[in-house]
Amino acid sequence: MELEPIIGLEIHVQLKTKTKMFCTCNNSGENMPPNSCICPICLGHPGTLPVANKQAIEWSALASLALHCQIAEYSKFDRKHYFYPDLPKAYQISQLDHPIGKNGFLYILNPESNEEEKISINRLHLEEDAAKLLHDPSKKYSLIDFNRGGTPLMEIVTEPDIKNPGQAKLFLQELRQIMRYLDVSEADMEKGHLRCDANISLKPAGEENLYPKTEIKNLNSFKMVEKALEYEISRQTKLWLEGNPPKEQTTRGWNDDKGISEEQRSKEEANDYRYFPEPDIPPIHFFIQAEKPGQDNGKNINIANLKTRLPELAYDKKKRFMAEYELHYEEVRIMIEDKKNADYFEQVISELHDWVNHLEKAGQKENIWQEYKPQLIKLAANWLINKLFPLLEEKQIKIEKIKITPENMAELITLIFTKKINNTTATEILAEMLATGADPSHLIKEKNLDQISNEEELENIIDKVIKDNPRPVEDYKKGKEKALQALIGKVMAQTKGKANPEIALKLLKNKL
Ligand SMILES: [Zn+2]
Repeated sequence: MELEPIIGLEIHVQLKTKTKMFCTCNNSGENMPPNSCICPICLGHPGTLPVANKQAIEWSALASLALHCQIAEYSKFDRKHYFYPDLPKAYQISQLDHPIGKNGFLYILNPESNEEEKISINRLHLEEDAAKLLHDPSKKYSLIDFNRGGTPLMEIVTEPDIKNPGQAKLFLQELRQIMRYLDVSEADMEKGHLRCDANISLKPAGEENLYPKTEIKNLNSFKMVEKALEYEISRQTKLWLEGNPPKEQTTRGWNDDKGISEEQRSKEEANDYRYFPEPDIPPIHFFIQAEKPGQDNGKNINIANLKTRLPELAYDKKKRFMAEYELHYEEVRIMIEDKKNADYFEQVISELHDWVNHLEKAGQKENIWQEYKPQLIKLAANWLINKLFPLLEEKQIKIEKIKITPENMAELITLIFTKKINNTTATEILAEMLATGADPSHLIKEKNLDQISNEEELENIIDKVIKDNPRPVEDYKKGKEKALQALIGKVMAQTKGKANPEIALKLLKNKL
C-alpha cells in the first residue's frame, strides 16, 4: 500500500514589541532576572484592566499581508480557559472566530526542482504567552518566571498542504525570514521566539479522506521538525502496514536525545476551552481604504497605510537576485539570509558600476560594465560571501556597524578585477579596511602593495629564483609539473606576494 503524509504546522512567533500584549511591562524579560518584568495585569490580579498593544496588532496585520492573508475588517479577542500554573488568570486572551488574518498562502522555492510550491495558510491570530515553568528534576518543586507571561504571540496555522518533512523545513525557514524582514520578531527557534507544532497523518495515496492526526510538540529547531516528521512517518507507516492505523487524535512530544516521539495526553476538543468574547477589550476595526485626514483617531488601523510599509520580501528578493544578478540559488540564499547583507550587496553593486564608469572615462577601455557585468557581480558576490561575511562573523561585527563603505568595497573589487592587486593582497587589505575604515588605494600606497605586473621587474626576480633553485628547475625539466608551483612560491616570497601570478607563471614557463 502506498501512503501519503498530510502535514500541517502551527507556529507561534514571539513579537519583539517594547511592551507586553496587554500591559506596559518591558517585553525583553527573557534577559532580565526572573519575575522582574511583571505587574498586576500580567499577573492576572482581579480588577485589573488589559489594554491591547497597538504595535502588536499592526505587526500582526503586516505579517498577515506578507502572508497574503485577507485582513478582517472586524477582529476581536476571546478568553480561552484552562487551568495551569503558568496561567494566573486561568484563561489566555486569544482570538477564536475573528482572527486578524485568514486564507493566505506562502510560496516556497524548492531548491532541487527549482519549482514554486504553494502552502496555504488558514489563519493568523494574536494572543498572549504564558509564563515559563522551570522544572528541576532534582527538586520536589517547580519554579515560575512570569517575565514571559503576557508577551505578544502570533499564531499562524497552515492548511494540511505540506507533503514531506523537507517542505515543512523550507516553509519554516521562509516564514522565519519574513518575520526578520518585517523586523517584528527575532524568530530564533533555539530561543523559542519561533515555536512550531506539527500535525501529521497518513492516508492511502489518492484517497480523499483524512485520518486522525498526531500532533508533535517540543520542536526547537528546523532540524528537529524534519527529524520528528520523518520518525513519525515511519512509525505511522508501520501501524498502517500492521492494519492498525491511528484511530484517534493524539499528542506526542519529540525526545531529541532518544530520536523518538513519545505519547502525551489526548488533545482536548476546542469546546473544552469554553471560549467567550473578552469583555474588557474593545474589538479592532481595520480600515481597508486610506483614511481621510482627521479620521485617524489613533485607535483604528489602516490597511492601505500598512501596505506601504511592506518591504520587498525574501522570496521576491531571491527571485530578483537570481534573475537580475545571474547568481546561483545557493549564493542568493546566503546573500539574502539577512536583509541588511542583501542591501549592502546592492549598494556595492551600484558603486561598482560607478567605479567601472570611472575606468571607462579614464580611457582604459569602453563598455566594461556591459561586457563584464556578470563577472563583476560574481566577483563582488564571492568577495562578500567568502571573505567579508566570514570576517564579520569572526570579529562579531554587525554589517550595519561596518566601517567599510560600499564605495570602498566596490573600489577593492575594481582593483581586484583590473588585477592591480592579487587575491592575497586584497585579503590583507580587506582586513585592514575593516579595522580602520581606510580606502583601499590609500592602503595600497601606504603599504606599497601594488601588484607587480611589470614584466622587466618580474623577469629579474625570476632569473634570480631560477639561479638559486637548481633542484626544482631540474625536476620541472624532467617533467614534474609540481616543481613549477615551488618556483612560483619562491617568486611570490621574493616579491612579498605582490607578483601578478598569471604574468609570473607565463614568464617562468618561457624561461624554463
Ligand atoms: Zn505586566
